[in-house]
Amino acid sequence: MNSQPTGNLSEIFASEQGEGTYCGDRHLFVRFAGCNIRCSYCDTPESLVRVPRYTIDYPDGQHEELSNPLTASDLTVIVMRFLREDPSIKMVSLTGGEPMVQARFIAAWLAAAALPVGVMLETAATLTRGLEELLPHLSTVSADVKLPSNSGESPFWELHGEFLSLCAAYDGPDVYVKMPVDDATSDLEVQRAARMVADLLPDARLYVQPITDPADGSWRLGAARMGALLALAAGECGNTAFRPQIHKLLGVR
Ligand code: SF4
Repeated sequence: MNSQPTGNLSEIFASEQGEGTYCGDRHLFVRFAGCNIRCSYCDTPESLVRVPRYTIDYPDGQHEELSNPLTASDLTVIVMRFLREDPSIKMVSLTGGEPMVQARFIAAWLAAAALPVGVMLETAATLTRGLEELLPHLSTVSADVKLPSNSGESPFWELHGEFLSLCAAYDGPDVYVKMPVDDATSDLEVQRAARMVADLLPDARLYVQPITDPADGSWRLGAARMGALLALAAGECGNTAFRPQIHKLLGVR
């Protein structure tokens, strides 16, 4: 009987990282299926629930569709093939969906795999179960703060605070925070989120990120409002920068 932990994926592919600190670097994206929340601007609706099959687009053009779940050793074989065939890949990005839903599988996989490149966790930072087991295996954490005035979700202040505090307590991965904003975003929420990042993770960069409309690719944010929100955030967190989703501008995945 196979007692290995198993994971549920949506897709695996290599592309340019379009967000945050490593924008423009080539990453291998391992997209996990299943998410615990439902943001109004979600651009990966196909990864919100666990799915029976996942796809792989290898660097040589081969496209595969395989059945979920997969084992840690299956995933290592796939990832190592990408790293062999595409030496420009600088990092493995664990994305979703919400990878933290499968944190225990991911921690077990990374502990066994000992990958030769860094590993980034891209997360909405609302789940902490399994985070302490995962942090030692990560080089980078890309954490979102979800603001209720634009996400359509309930406030996550306590959960975000708990997540960022655990990252701060573990002196390991580089952590940065992205804050999606649009024209309707509340000033007070922007200030509160920026203050939280400055208080809990004084070395972390905060990126104010315009929300891209999933329907037509346009920004849900005008230039004047962008400047105002950036100034509000920078007033609370000195390490704030504007950073749009570059992959949407480039038209890459
Ligand atoms: S956390 Fe990410 S995957 Fe989940 S609903 Fe929000 S944008 Fe979509």
